[in-house]
Amino acid sequence: MHLVEAGGKRVLLDAGLFQGLKSLRLRNRAQRVDAPRHIDAVVLSHAHIDHSGYLPLLVREGFRGPIYCTSATAELLGIMLRDAARLQEEEADRANRHRYAKHQPALPLYALADVEATLQLLDGRRFGKPFDVTPNVTALFRPAGHILGAATIELDLDAAAPRRLVYSGDLGRWDRPILPDPELVPEADVLLLESTYGDRVHPANGEEELARIVRDAVKRGGVILVPAFAVGRTQELLWLLAHLADAGRIPSLPVYLDSPMAMKVNEVYAGHAAELDSDGGLPGRKQVHVTVTPEESKALNRLPGPVIIVSASGMATGGRILHHLSLRLSDPRTTVLLVGFQAAGTRGRALQDGAREVRIFGRDVPVRAAVERLDALSAHADRAELLRWLEGFTRPPRQTYLVHGEPAGAAVLAAAIAKRFGWEVRAAVDAEIVEV
Ligand code: ZN
Repeated sequence: MHLVEAGGKRVLLDAGLFQGLKSLRLRNRAQRVDAPRHIDAVVLSHAHIDHSGYLPLLVREGFRGPIYCTSATAELLGIMLRDAARLQEEEADRANRHRYAKHQPALPLYALADVEATLQLLDGRRFGKPFDVTPNVTALFRPAGHILGAATIELDLDAAAPRRLVYSGDLGRWDRPILPDPELVPEADVLLLESTYGDRVHPANGEEELARIVRDAVKRGGVILVPAFAVGRTQELLWLLAHLADAGRIPSLPVYLDSPMAMKVNEVYAGHAAELDSDGGLPGRKQVHVTVTPEESKALNRLPGPVIIVSASGMATGGRILHHLSLRLSDPRTTVLLVGFQAAGTRGRALQDGAREVRIFGRDVPVRAAVERLDALSAHADRAELLRWLEGFTRPPRQTYLVHGEPAGAAVLAAAIAKRFGWEVRAAVDAEIVEV
């Protein structure tokens, strides 16, 4: 969340929820913005909850301005924010029933009514067409290649003494299926750049690694469980699995998409075909079995392997994947495949770091499953790709601040940018105020 003040107006760039470490998540419950009713507008980069999930709280606290985003983002938010409210209500409910909440009663962060009020404020805009945010702030969205609808945001501030602020949002990758490459941005006075994978270079050959993981899992004969974000990872994974099976590089296994939300998201992708790559067709229902009702989901419990079950959430912090993990983690035939970034403090990160047991629904579940990690499927640019996007600038930004990364990622990326381009660059400090 970044607050921009210009000409007496206040504009928020993104309004996300903290995820991961409990110390961070607790901050979601603290007052994070002064006087939300006096914020004039929000400009949103994309629909992921760590960029949008605070919006219902903002609205509950009095924000009534427009929320500008791309039309695809607006459609995805309808799915994602309603799901976020439902997950929070379920989690609070379960905590109260099983009395594992430290604070009684556990309260959800927000309710469905807050989400519905938020959705009323969305104002969907097109890529590549500048629009007025306030009388002295103009915005432009360019494709970021991260998920459907994801944009980099260019803000032109104060026409009398013009300044351009560019916010990368989350940057995607080059030469990936489904989405086109990130669009380059030519100019910025101040740049806010994400640094999620600033200290990593993704392995090149994700397809071969995925094929190897699937073949190994088939030998063990168990179920392959994939915690995946409903937006982005799931679509790319389904595309790759279908592609590998068609090419005969993996056996043709039943794939179950146990996520009603991911299914709805697939429909939004299909409705925005013009924004997808030419290879953008998602696998059809013949290839992917979709489970909708809780009963259909529970029926998967009786399935022997080998099958692939893809289910949210991506860091195993909630959703149906928890039921599958609690049932199958202790089975050595199971393979858990982690396909996205796993934030510190999440069950996904614990699994990635080799935890012997993880706590699910208040119970310690032993981990005997094989845990595999496939970073090549990340929706985030790695260090090399972040530098490639920076090559697009025709002059150095006066200031570059690194955001949206853990400290190690930001530090390594800052050093790499200084070395390659000689720019003024450092990690942003939480809550600091800078003059543009
Ligand atoms: Zn994102």
